[in-house]
Amino acid sequence: MITFNVPLHINKEIDYIKEAVEENNKISGDGPFTKKCHKWMEDKFNCSKALLTTSGTHALELAALLIDIQKGDEVIMPSYTFTSTANAFVLRGAIIKFIDIEPETMNMDADLIEQAITNKTKAIVPVHYAGVSCDMNKINSIADEYDLYVIEDAAQGVMSKYNDEYLGTLGDLGCYSFHETKNYSSGEGGALIINNEKFKERAEIIREKGTNRSQFFRGQVDKYTWQDHGSSYLPSEINAAYLYAQLEKAEEINNNRVSSWNLYYKLLKPLEEKNMISLPYIPDNCEHNAHMFYIKTESLEERTKLISYLKENDIQSVFHYIPLHSTKAGKKFSEFVGEDKFTTSESEKLVRLPMYYGLKDRDIEYIAEKIIEFYDGVN
Ligand SMILES: *Cc1c(COP(=O)(O)O)cnc(C)c1O
Repeated sequence: MITFNVPLHINKEIDYIKEAVEENNKISGDGPFTKKCHKWMEDKFNCSKALLTTSGTHALELAALLIDIQKGDEVIMPSYTFTSTANAFVLRGAIIKFIDIEPETMNMDADLIEQAITNKTKAIVPVHYAGVSCDMNKINSIADEYDLYVIEDAAQGVMSKYNDEYLGTLGDLGCYSFHETKNYSSGEGGALIINNEKFKERAEIIREKGTNRSQFFRGQVDKYTWQDHGSSYLPSEINAAYLYAQLEKAEEINNNRVSSWNLYYKLLKPLEEKNMISLPYIPDNCEHNAHMFYIKTESLEERTKLISYLKENDIQSVFHYIPLHSTKAGKKFSEFVGEDKFTTSESEKLVRLPMYYGLKDRDIEYIAEKIIEFYDGVN
């Protein structure tokens, strides 16, 4: 079976965990490996502050706490996303306003943001689907005009760029995920990227159970005390050690995935030219990280058949999000603004193909061959 994902273990993950345990004698959070991860991200992504979190979900929750979401505040996002994008704000009492996506990228259609803005709107949350950037120029200029925060859900966008700047560094705050299914992993993990300077100090406090322990460790205060609301959002050094080994190999991992992505694209292009399937679209000003390779079929029925055809041939392919507005919780906590022209219909056509570091070219060739064979049978 060619599985959809293989958790990444590439380098010195185990050595570094050993070092954390046996040499550093430090396995709780914010030790040497966490500091190395922070510095690596701050240097690489050119951002003023990066903080590891226990998950991408927690990075989003930390963001919602930082912008002081209150009951009844409204947050604008696409419905085609993971539950955590919405839940982070729902937990604070927000009402979610979903807008439609663009079919080409599956990202929020920035032209639909303004019609969803009311005097309760507090933030816009662009989700960079498949590691391909949303239209950040437009989103940031609307946010400026209406005085809204921009929280990027860049869970899938680590190492991707928009106009030569890294995703996660373009809004007030950016949220990364280092879950096992993402490009870089610590098993479970994430990071908050702080671009708006006013959140720098408070982010540390909220992440450290509402205390100024980070300032205490730096010698800036002589005791640490309760300063603010907060929770425990810092991962253990064991997770940070695992992650750091992968960050050191980030370029290699990225190049490997991009070359797999390009091979899929090249082999499946003829099917797109015959109008049998559609392939992902990468806007000119975007550089993507090959987080995902998906194709779109003509219909839900065709997708179901294709997934089972691939399964019969030992290939695991999967569909993705059920639009949040159509779910049980969605009906309770959210409202879809405007027409659902593409969210539901496009999500029903999308199939994700196996994609992971080290996926073999001959496996990609086999998968493409089976997809082509499927369409030969259809027509
Ligand atoms: C993975 C993901 C998350 C959640 O990240 P976790 O680290 O699993 O909590 C949030 N949003 C999107 C778009 C994701 O893909």
